[in-house]
Amino acid sequence: MTTHKLLLLAGDGIGPETMAEVEKILAVLNRGEARFETERGLVGGAAIDAHGVPISEGDMALALGADAVLFGAVGGPKWDGVAYEIRPEAGLLRLRKDMELFANLRPAICYPALAEASSLKRELVDGLDILILRELTGGVYFGSPKEIVDLGQGQKRGIDTQVYETYEIERIARAAFEAARTRHGKVTSMEKRNVMKTGVLWNEVVTRIGRDEYPDVRLEHMLADAGGMQLVRAPKQFDVIVTDNLFGDMLSDIAAMLTGSLGMLPSASLGAPDAANGAKRRALYEPVHGSAPDIAGQGIANPIAMIASAAMMLRYSFGLTREADALEASIASVLESGTRTGDIMAPGCRQVGTGEMGDAIAQAFSERLAA
Ligand code: NAD
Repeated sequence: MTTHKLLLLAGDGIGPETMAEVEKILAVLNRGEARFETERGLVGGAAIDAHGVPISEGDMALALGADAVLFGAVGGPKWDGVAYEIRPEAGLLRLRKDMELFANLRPAICYPALAEASSLKRELVDGLDILILRELTGGVYFGSPKEIVDLGQGQKRGIDTQVYETYEIERIARAAFEAARTRHGKVTSMEKRNVMKTGVLWNEVVTRIGRDEYPDVRLEHMLADAGGMQLVRAPKQFDVIVTDNLFGDMLSDIAAMLTGSLGMLPSASLGAPDAANGAKRRALYEPVHGSAPDIAGQGIANPIAMIASAAMMLRYSFGLTREADALEASIASVLESGTRTGDIMAPGCRQVGTGEMGDAIAQAFSERLAA
């Protein structure tokens, strides 16, 4: 039996409430063939209160040694006044940097039971299941020079630099092709090669990796602006979309809104293979939403984004495809039965709290695994 080492960083606000529901899922898994060992650490405001920093060196070491990190959310009004360098978000940024998390994976899944909550017509989004891979550590957000130059006479020049090197494109392309192999076998690469040199290089490198290493995966290219248009026109044409940091930031937010509520959206960030740990990829899984201070402590947060993040962990860190499918199907069946938290409540449905939603999904999951 393989043992998987997890670090749980629940964080602040609704983080601990939603993480508690993931622990119910892990308990179900531990009754089966898989074995998950968990350690807990502090991040964000909780770490600032305990250690004066948004993540301690000890917890950083646990994160680097873990097979996967599950992350809740950080921040809240209590820490709005702390120094910029030790603000709660700096804990997440440190994790991303030290774990070298270069690929951000955001699925946009539209559960049929929630299709009415989308801004698009039901037939366009019902059953939607796409995955966006955004390059996370390069591109225009990090390139230098990055500055505002005073030109005199009231004029200034703002400069950001879009820069990509071959290895950065190769590794995100491989992550995309590998994800496509576990899904429907199609990758759409998006850039702006018509006006950007980085786009020309991006297109060239992705094409080569696809042709030489993943001939079984279908590859198509689309200009990023046309891609944005296609995402709202006919989103079901896509399986895996791979794109750079800037375009990915925007395209993944567009895709997210196709599916309705923030409380439903999981994400994964994957890093470089760790030579010291059997070449396993470093990985962090987290909901897209924040700490929701407005509803924290009331037991009403939707735990689905956090639970769906754990499903991504089963799929992408541990290759537990059957378990990941079963967990996602359990979420869908509980929604289908009309069980809803307040944020996704609809007429004729039954409103429940965080714990009851977690119990219902854990119960459905346990039954599916046993079937
Ligand atoms: P938010 O995502 O926390 O909340 C936005 C709105 O969505 C709120 O009304 C909230 O109640 C609701 N919401 C979010 N998640 C929900 C859930 N699971 N169930 C039901 N409703 C949910 O964003 P915000 O209000 O802009 O930020 C609040 C705090 O979170 C800030 O301190 C911000 O810096 C932080 N934040 C952290 C992360 C992170 O940890 N990765 C991400 C975004 C924001």
